[in-house]
Amino acid sequence: MSVLIVGAGPTGLTLACELLRRGIPVRLIDSREKRGSFSKALGIQARTLEHFAQMGIVDEFLKRGLKGKGVAVHWGNKELHFDLDPLETRFPFLLVLPQMDTEEILLTHFEKMGGRIEWKSTLVDLLEKEGKREAHIQLPTGERVVDHSSWIVGCDGAHSSIRHLLNLSFSGYPFPELFLLADIEGDIASSLKTYAHFFLSRKGFCAAIPLPQFQQYRLILPDVPKEEQNLLKVLEERECSDKMQIRTIHWLSSFQIQRRMTKTLRVGNVFLAGDAAHIHSPAGGQGMNTGIQDAFNLAWKLAWVIRGKAFTSLLDTYEKERIPIAKAVLRGTSRATSLITFSQKWSPLLLFSFFKLMLLSKTVRGKVSNQLSQLAIHYKKSRRAPDAPLENGKRVHDYLTDGKYLLLLFTENTPFLTKMRKRYGDILEIVLTHDPEARKIYKAEVYELVCIRPDGYIGYQASKGALLGCEQYLKSIFKT
Ligand SMILES: Cc1cc2nc3c(=O)[nH]c(=O)nc-3n(C[C@H](O)[C@H](O)[C@H](O)COP(=O)(O)OP(=O)(O)OC[C@H]3O[C@@H](n4cnc5c(N)ncnc54)[C@H](O)[C@@H]3O)c2cc1C
Repeated sequence: MSVLIVGAGPTGLTLACELLRRGIPVRLIDSREKRGSFSKALGIQARTLEHFAQMGIVDEFLKRGLKGKGVAVHWGNKELHFDLDPLETRFPFLLVLPQMDTEEILLTHFEKMGGRIEWKSTLVDLLEKEGKREAHIQLPTGERVVDHSSWIVGCDGAHSSIRHLLNLSFSGYPFPELFLLADIEGDIASSLKTYAHFFLSRKGFCAAIPLPQFQQYRLILPDVPKEEQNLLKVLEERECSDKMQIRTIHWLSSFQIQRRMTKTLRVGNVFLAGDAAHIHSPAGGQGMNTGIQDAFNLAWKLAWVIRGKAFTSLLDTYEKERIPIAKAVLRGTSRATSLITFSQKWSPLLLFSFFKLMLLSKTVRGKVSNQLSQLAIHYKKSRRAPDAPLENGKRVHDYLTDGKYLLLLFTENTPFLTKMRKRYGDILEIVLTHDPEARKIYKAEVYELVCIRPDGYIGYQASKGALLGCEQYLKSIFKT
């Protein structure tokens, strides 16, 4: 049984890597000629970095990216700093890396595992046969072939053909304002080199995000008319031309933000993930991260169902878990965009006061940091498993790299464990610990156990009396 993945953007590539490392045959097609060469999504959030660590590729990201520490807000001669910490993670920063590099790292990883992208191959139709959809693909030669993969995943971006062919609505609306984006080389008048800079004035807003390349920045300016492409003039109008010196403009583009999502992520044997299912404002750098995390959520479930180990009902949880996340991301990013565009027109002081409030209140700062970094993401029945030290020198997250469940027991060896090892050995890693800090972090009593899913969320947590409950939990997912 194989999986056809349509679209080799960050979402499709992550899914392809995660399926392939679990031994699932993957066919990955993309209508483009080759890998993307635009900087597009820049921000890789802490939660995504944790997933890249699980995939074994985080070091390459850290080597190439820039560790953004926080935000500096400028209002006249005043400057406020908002640090992203305190974050309870190994990666307490926003990693800035152009999307083309993210795609390159994922593609190299995919190819190292023996994967290959079929470029210039386009999904052109999706026809029903014996209760399942089959994909019709146009090859680079112009020939049309039918693909017989058992599962199809549409990671084909905002204009998704799969979504159209399934007749799924993509409800929402466009924001009226156009945004101007530019990648530039130059200097910012601030000593805070690894911070995103927000310049506020009565004439408008401008954000400058530092890029990993020395003295390069992404500028984002909301509400710039389409016909206005003179960046220097817009910067002067917004009273920030004295705050930055531009030597070269590498790339300039204007775009309209949309807020849209599908009601469902699955129709029979076809799934949707990433921008194909949800698009929104780039405020806060959430889009690409949400797509990568869709892929991470789906991969292990699909792999175990294909291998015949798990019941197909496990796949129902993909939509149940990810739809509320997409809704929350749409809500949060729309609010942030409205706040910026509204304040720009009516009251930049309001925006400045908002940032000041964030800076002064540790609680608000912590909450915003956790939301933006996506560490606060939790599902109805599962919350993120925190990292914690263990007495053997390892940490809990070190055990989440082999794609298995992790059973963390704050107890001694018991006959129950021998039974669990025998029954679930190939899907479960068992670790015994008495580490008091780990217990504190997990808010666990002695004898408690925590069952952590392969995507790093807690599936089940209970005390000694409920060891059987854990077995029941696994029995509800896996055939034994
Ligand atoms: C200017 C800009 C700035 C952005 N900034 C940020 C940011 O700071 N942070 C952030 O998180 N997000 C940002 N985003 C959004 C981010 O780029 C997207 O969320 C991300 O690319 C989505 O990844 P994806 O893999 O789901 O889809 P895509 O990257 O769109 O990939 C879809 C792929 O599917 C292929 N395809 C489409 N149709 C077919 C077909 N019929 N057959 C075969 N292949 C097909 C396409 O060729 C494409 O390669 C930005 C986007 C833009 C445009």
